[in-house]
Amino acid sequence: TPAREFVQELPAVRIVLAAGARQRLPDEVARLGWRRVLLIGGADPLRSVGDEIATALGSAVVARIVDAAQHVPVATAQAAVTTARSAAVDGLVVLGGGSAIGLAKAVALDTGLPVLAVPTTYAGSEMTDIWGRTDQGRKTTGRTPAVRPTVVVYDVELTIGMPPALTAMSGLNALAHCVEAVYDSGAGPITRLLALEGVRLLGGWLPAAVTDGADRRARAEVLYGAHLAGTALGTARMGAHHALCHVLGGAFGLPHAETHAVVLPHAVAFNHSAARDALASVARALDAEPDDSAGALWDLGHQLNAPPSLAALGLNRDDALRAAAQLADHPVTNPRPIDSDSAQELVLAAYHGQRPA
Ligand code: NAD
Repeated sequence: TPAREFVQELPAVRIVLAAGARQRLPDEVARLGWRRVLLIGGADPLRSVGDEIATALGSAVVARIVDAAQHVPVATAQAAVTTARSAAVDGLVVLGGGSAIGLAKAVALDTGLPVLAVPTTYAGSEMTDIWGRTDQGRKTTGRTPAVRPTVVVYDVELTIGMPPALTAMSGLNALAHCVEAVYDSGAGPITRLLALEGVRLLGGWLPAAVTDGADRRARAEVLYGAHLAGTALGTARMGAHHALCHVLGGAFGLPHAETHAVVLPHAVAFNHSAARDALASVARALDAEPDDSAGALWDLGHQLNAPPSLAALGLNRDDALRAAAQLADHPVTNPRPIDSDSAQELVLAAYHGQRPA
């Protein structure tokens, strides 16, 4: 048994999760005392939801930005900061996935404005202090407590229309946050608890949510699992899996959530010998044999129609080797140390995509 000695951060955030919770937004905004709001997000296919929220908030919405590109281009962020400043808003209300929330965080970073987030995917950014910006193809990320939303409103109804592929990839992205939190030796015990519950819920309910997007029970369980995953991401250090996905997305233009879906089983297989107990608990949460966490995650990805390999995402072998070199050049905390040989082993495994033994 581990000694009862730990460090655990629990950031202060108000969380509302309910079917139809978006209807409580006027009350939530009033509770915050905001009179002037910048509404971010609500591009297609969320346009009608964005309009509905704008109408409900009425005259409090003094400015609106609809489009949010992936990875927060610096120019987009600067324009949004200018909008927020010239409209003299009290806070930001953001509707959307990690891209829209990322834009709101970029505004918060420069202005100190508080954020109320209404997430519509399972990426989990709403629960973290992590921000990112991309300038001329280079993505910079950092952790700053001020960008973490102070109120998060989860409305399961907004997730009903998520297409099966987005549901699957975004859900596997969330599962990756949980898994890397579980094997972060520095994470607190409460983070580990909620990360394992996230594994259980996401592993157990994603197949049903992908098969029948209108299955409300499955949607609610997956959304709650994704909330736990975001909390894990926000209170633990991420390892080789997230570092590699960051390289593949940032330098090689691979799609965010799909890349997470492909890499996860291989990152877990890579770490297996160095994090045996942590990964046995992941396996238990997935109803798998203790040594089969990587195989069980691969099977789940297969069942959810995840792309089979980095090659299938369009990466060529030379770029895979370049990505490995970049991974080895930027050390991160990870159960198994990463050097140029081991980085290559990990990247090539994901490149080929065979089921981990
Ligand atoms: P996204 O926000 O880019 O959205 C993907 C697409 O799905 C968009 O076209 C969007 O309009 C659409 N969409 C969103 N919600 C929908 C819904 N409910 N129904 C139908 N369509 C919907 O995708 P994402 O995976 O949520 O976010 C990825 C981005 O977020 C990446 O840039 C990633 O780096 C970042 N991210 C950041 C953090 C963090 O902590 N800072 C965490 C996770 C991801």
